[in-house]
Amino acid sequence: MRRHRNVKIVATLGPASDDYDTIRALFEAGADVFRLNMSHGDHDDIRARHNIIRDIERDTGRPICILADLQGPKLRCGVFENDEAEIEVGAPFRFDLDDTPGDATRVQLPHKEIFDALKPGGHLLVNDGKLRLKVEKCGADFADCTVITGGTISNRKGVNVPDVVLPLAALSEKDRKDLEFVCELGVDWLALSFVQRRADVDEARELARGRAAVLSKIEKPAAVEAFDEILAASDGIMVARGDLGVECPVQSVPPIQKRLTRKCRAAAKPVIVATQMLESMIDSPMPTRAEVSDVATAIYEGVDAIMLSAESAAGSFPLEAVGTMNDVAISVESDQTYREIIEASRASHLTTTADGIVAAAREIAETTNVKAICCFSHSGSTGLKVSRERPRVPIIVLTPVAETARRMVLSWGIHSVQTQSVERFKFAVVSAVRAAKAAGFAETTDQVVVTAGIPFNVAGSTNILRVAPCDERLIFGTEGD
Ligand code: ATP
Ligand code: MG
Ligand code: MG
Repeated sequence: MRRHRNVKIVATLGPASDDYDTIRALFEAGADVFRLNMSHGDHDDIRARHNIIRDIERDTGRPICILADLQGPKLRCGVFENDEAEIEVGAPFRFDLDDTPGDATRVQLPHKEIFDALKPGGHLLVNDGKLRLKVEKCGADFADCTVITGGTISNRKGVNVPDVVLPLAALSEKDRKDLEFVCELGVDWLALSFVQRRADVDEARELARGRAAVLSKIEKPAAVEAFDEILAASDGIMVARGDLGVECPVQSVPPIQKRLTRKCRAAAKPVIVATQMLESMIDSPMPTRAEVSDVATAIYEGVDAIMLSAESAAGSFPLEAVGTMNDVAISVESDQTYREIIEASRASHLTTTADGIVAAAREIAETTNVKAICCFSHSGSTGLKVSRERPRVPIIVLTPVAETARRMVLSWGIHSVQTQSVERFKFAVVSAVRAAKAAGFAETTDQVVVTAGIPFNVAGSTNILRVAPCDERLIFGTEGD
């Protein structure tokens, strides 16, 4: 089974997508990566979803990537008597520390530090800034507000207080427990929320001990400022536009998205663009034109992955949302302008032998009738370099390491295949050719480019390239070793 596009689709799982059949249908419709949001659901829920994904992986024979998103110091309101309430413009509304379920007049805000820092005249923003309330009067355990922008407020929605700086640690006690839990479970990526400095990433990486790759969510002005060092310390990045658009002026989000995307590509690290990509599809089977355009823009920018949040987790049309992203991706990627943009933004990165080999692989694929670039990669670093080249042909990463195969799924254009470890190059070529044919990338009369590091059983980087025929008789007939 193969995809007919290069950009990847991340789908958040939630109540709208928590059984085998739905998750499998999402995978078949195009979801490559599943996001488990540690902010919602307990460890049993998370384990159940994780196990279902691994079952689907076994049943389909395809590596599937799982990203666990740690809540971080996110502020949230409590729950409501009827799961939600309508708050109207001009009406009074109170936040307090009382855990009695809320209604249209009040709700719990279980963060004492907010009440300590709030001042009359300040603002509280709810649900990625969709609702806005002005503080009229406040004390140690309450804030009486007036609703400035009304709407529906529901269980455990995020709350931002942009006017005040709160003394928050990067990883809470809950985050540490969640991190250990998901690492033991065997997720592939950890997403860190509200990263502000390099030390936050280093701390999580130390706790993860190589069990999962580390992705930093950029959603704070401080993270935008310290981006270069955060990128250097991370394996991947998410432009988390929900909180970013509340913490920074909303009009600064598109330029930040563009800048970060370019830097990630230069660093050969995957970048995800997230939040509100198809927001109206929570309640509607059809996206708006503006949403389609937003998804397309991210793809034209060359991002590795685009993400669905509530659309797939809690919406009424999760399959349609994945299908829409898939259709938009196929349409954009077949546009000549897309290729022109991708090519114009390619920089040269010739510092190592592996860089030279992957650049050559891409050029050969452009000049001859080559159907795929197949690279053998243990850690995945060569696969990431090929992905950075954004070649015209599919990239097949062959690795004996299951964790590498899964992690690589997040990156642009990569089709990962777990193989037996091979001892000799000619057998590597054979398994590459078989993988390319089995997935439908090439036929017997085609050719592929194969890259590998020789000798095989010694750790080292890529140093060999061969243009191989897909006819196995010809491989054995011409190979010397
Ligand atoms: P984050 O800041 O981490 O993105 P979020 O609250 O915005 O947190 P998302 O994963 O982006 O969460 O999902 C958007 C909305 O979808 C949530 O606010 C919530 O209403 C709903 N949702 C997502 N996952 C779940 C879940 N597992 N259980 C219940 N509701 C969920
Ligand atoms: Mg969100
Ligand atoms: Mg967020």
